Amino acid sequence: MSIELETWCKQIFQTISGGMRIIDRDFNVIGINNTYSKLFGISEDDAVGKKCYEILGSSMCHTPDCPLMVILNGETHAEYEMQADSIDESSINYISNARPFYGADGEILGIIEEVKDTTEYKRVIDELKIRDSILASSINAIAVADLEGRLTYVNRAFLDMWECDVKGAFSKPVTEYWQMESSAIEALGFLYERGRWVSEGIINRIDGSLSYVQILASMVTDETDNPICIVTSFIDITELKRVKESKLRAQTALAVAKSNTDTIKSIMDAVVIAIAITDLDGKMIRINKGFTETFGFGTEIIGKNPTDFIVEKDIPKVINGMNGCVQNNHASSIECSAITNDKEEIIIIIDFTLMRDSRGTPTGVIVVIRDITEQKRSAETRERLSNELMQKNKELEQLIRIVSHDLRSPLVNIQGFSNELGRACDELRSIIDEESLASDVTEKISPILDEEVPEMLRYILISVSKIDSLLSGLLRISRLGRVMLNTKNIDMNELMTNVIGAFEFQIKQAGVTLTVGDIPPCIADEEQINQVFSNLLNNALKYLDPKKVGAISIIGWNEAGESIYCVEDNGLGIAPEHQERIFDMFYRLNPNATPGEGLGLNIIRKVLDRHNGKVWVESEYEKGSKFFISLPTSKELIASNSEVLTHSGT
Ligand code: ADP
Repeated sequence: MSIELETWCKQIFQTISGGMRIIDRDFNVIGINNTYSKLFGISEDDAVGKKCYEILGSSMCHTPDCPLMVILNGETHAEYEMQADSIDESSINYISNARPFYGADGEILGIIEEVKDTTEYKRVIDELKIRDSILASSINAIAVADLEGRLTYVNRAFLDMWECDVKGAFSKPVTEYWQMESSAIEALGFLYERGRWVSEGIINRIDGSLSYVQILASMVTDETDNPICIVTSFIDITELKRVKESKLRAQTALAVAKSNTDTIKSIMDAVVIAIAITDLDGKMIRINKGFTETFGFGTEIIGKNPTDFIVEKDIPKVINGMNGCVQNNHASSIECSAITNDKEEIIIIIDFTLMRDSRGTPTGVIVVIRDITEQKRSAETRERLSNELMQKNKELEQLIRIVSHDLRSPLVNIQGFSNELGRACDELRSIIDEESLASDVTEKISPILDEEVPEMLRYILISVSKIDSLLSGLLRISRLGRVMLNTKNIDMNELMTNVIGAFEFQIKQAGVTLTVGDIPPCIADEEQINQVFSNLLNNALKYLDPKKVGAISIIGWNEAGESIYCVEDNGLGIAPEHQERIFDMFYRLNPNATPGEGLGLNIIRKVLDRHNGKVWVESEYEKGSKFFISLPTSKELIASNSEVLTHSGT
């Protein structure tokens, strides 16, 4: 049966946007519209009148699934997804919806097939499937959220990373996974503005460990840049962080080690003495500025052994010292001679100290070198001078002894013959008296015999006695250096009572007020200390001011391991320019005013030298003087000195 379409009907048919084909009950195509024609590349002329299975036949043709057959069998609708090859042999996917069309009597005349091209749709779906499987198989955790932050997709890695199931995962908004809920708005703002937001987060694992994740959120937009959804990927960077941290730690340790090395270098350089650091084989690995200054060697010495610049005879003891240090950790000190870069021989002391690392393992030897050449030379000079001085002192003492001893006999002669001369004069006077000489002769002789000669003899005897007391003083001084010290603990209060007792008469006669405090004991030779305080008290009385009532005080105290004593008077005082010189031998301020030899203070100083003590004066002219004495309270302090002086006197 052939059916002709009405013209108007045909026009509508052609303007329908979907593809349409009309097939009668005998599989004849009775019409296709323009869309159908375009879709499959078939013209209306080629299609109309042909059997439907001849053009664009499909796998369903001639089977019960054939849409026409399905409709003829009573169905009102048949829908299939179909694939067909177009004229240009490209594959077309389409959905076919077949519905019956009826004649006036209600009989099915055929089917109207509506065709929808699903090729693009299918391609998109396939692509989405591929993407989905890519997302699903990604090792990075991925979450997709809508613009409100509600999760719409998470992949397997996401569930593994956050240790939750799908339900648990979807129970929170994506912003919670960003772990910065407080500033989630800010992050969203970033996403809207820049399309990307990057951060870092920490996951507290069920086993208590921590995982560090990098969070990368991207805004997905459509072709017109409208936001669609948010894709967030989480990358586990725990390992990366650990590597970074250990790298940082290593770098820090390296920097600390370097700064330690720099510090050690600056400390070494700041030290004036020479320092070298050797390895355990004795090879120098580092030297400081002091080393270069001492030896004149620079870094060219690195790698060499300290023995390379030690004089040959001393090499064995240096090697021993070094070995003792490395093998037995013996810190040793060795005196030896070394040759500098300028070929100069110097005397040095080398100290070896074992160097260890933080675990206590020996790593090298610190060699500290002190140049003691100057010290040695000045010690030698000092010793030479001291020997010379001792020799000179000995000679001087001998001279004093000989002179004072030898001068004594002629002096005794002068004294004796002067006395003889006096007696001779007396005899001469008796003879003159007996012989009754002429009065003019008597007149001439008498003044000579009665006045001039006795006067001259008196002067001679005064001078003799002066020389005699000087010689006695000199002898006392020379004896001082030779007498062995008999040191003991002295009760100074008792000693002072004895000294004062000896001066009782002078004290009374001078009408002096004498006060004595409680004074501390000391260790000394009692006889010599008695002499010291006798001389001081004697001077205090001797040099009182006749215009004032005399006042003398004696006090004492302990200070820094010494006993200090002070004898103070309100006498004539001593002008500053004389204060140091009064301790010299024979030095007197006013020789004719008072008797004395000018030896008393010199004797005091010599005694105190032997006791390792001191004497000094504080005085004001016409006001008075204070003489201070310091004496040790320990025997050891005076032992060495007294021994030297004792020997020097023999
Ligand atoms: P001397 O008393 O025999 O002269 P010293 O050596 O004891 O010898 O004293 C030296 C000089 O120091 C004295 O001559 C005197 O000028 C002065 N001098 C000593 N002690 C005192 C004193 N206490 N006050 C004033 N002058 C003093």
